[in-house]
Amino acid sequence: MNPPHFETRAVHSGEHRAGAEEGRDGTFYPISTPIYASTTFSHPNVETTDRILGGEEEGYSYTRYDNPTVRALEEALVSLEAPGAGVSAFAFASGMAATHAAFAAAELTSGATVLAAEQLYGSTATLLMQVFGANGVETRFVDAYDLGAVEKKVAQLGPRAVVVESISNPLLRVADIPAISEITRAAGAALIVDNTFGTPFLQRPLDLGADIVVHSATKYLSGHGDLTAGVVAAGPPYSDAVEQLRKLVGGVLGPFEAWLAHRGLKTLPLRMGRQCENARAIAGHLATHPKIGQVNHPSLEAHPDHTTAGRVLSDTGGLVSFELAAEGREVAFAFLDSLELCVKAPSLGDIYTLAIHPATSSHRELSPSRRERLGVGENLVRLSVGIEHPEDIISDLEQALDRL
Ligand code: PLP
Repeated sequence: MNPPHFETRAVHSGEHRAGAEEGRDGTFYPISTPIYASTTFSHPNVETTDRILGGEEEGYSYTRYDNPTVRALEEALVSLEAPGAGVSAFAFASGMAATHAAFAAAELTSGATVLAAEQLYGSTATLLMQVFGANGVETRFVDAYDLGAVEKKVAQLGPRAVVVESISNPLLRVADIPAISEITRAAGAALIVDNTFGTPFLQRPLDLGADIVVHSATKYLSGHGDLTAGVVAAGPPYSDAVEQLRKLVGGVLGPFEAWLAHRGLKTLPLRMGRQCENARAIAGHLATHPKIGQVNHPSLEAHPDHTTAGRVLSDTGGLVSFELAAEGREVAFAFLDSLELCVKAPSLGDIYTLAIHPATSSHRELSPSRRERLGVGENLVRLSVGIEHPEDIISDLEQALDRL
């Protein structure tokens, strides 16, 4: 048989690992990995437990270290993010816990400098400045979507790590990961990519030269707005460090959430395919609307990274942002409050279309001048497009625009 495609791996990977169960009705195999709600695993003899705890034998001993339900999810994630490349994936209790572990694994310790995209998710930037900053790490920022600027800052600062997002929020800039990884490789810096907006459906940064990938699995990977989770995917030496850190710090994902995340992951290609299609249709529709100003979506020729997206992404993503032609926060609030189908909620990647006002949600903590520099105006709205029929989403947007 040929190696299975992405869609097939999404459905099957990680499953069917549970051994046969001897039951009253004969031998049977669960087709879905059960939720192993067990803190500890017992073995036929203490010698086996000793070898498992000593790392001489594969096996489960304690759920903070490893758990079959969590492992099933992690195997599925590896098969999507970097099949056959010696990569491991680790599931965490949130995207932030995963990001923290990735930074620690990249040895962001006293005296190190980290070069971060100025477009980073706000809490990631704050984590670097407050938590790692308190331990002597200096964080410097760069426009990660300006390769010349990245090259210059890397040469100037000699950072230990560079942190970027594959697709930025809320202007949906697309990072040129192959080019950035050439710069970081030459400088001996680790490249950490937050691939939350991209997902392995659109891009696999490890194949493009990144060293560590992180996700908020709360978003597209799980996809249903019903759990919080995070992922780190990396090869050695980072994978060994992440595993050890997770054991010691303990931010592991629980088996219930792992099962739910794995269930969501199976439909990632279906969901993302539809979300990209819907987002393209919505962006195209809004781009010619008289009550709309600039529309941001990489599918549009006017988007600054339209060409880069064609090179580094397999599709153009499920998020769209746009400016209302009329200025001001009140207009944006009135528009959002008029939506009937789209859900007003500050997250993304769900099956439901979600709408937010970035200036007062994702970018709330920034000063007005920094928001302005990043292009996050008071009249900007972001949609995380869901899997509904595109005509229904457009019809909802139209009726809300009509009321302005
Ligand atoms: N990275 C990105 C790009 C995000 O948007 C978020 C959350 O919105 C996170 C990381 C943090 O993820 P979590 O909320 O699962 O901790």
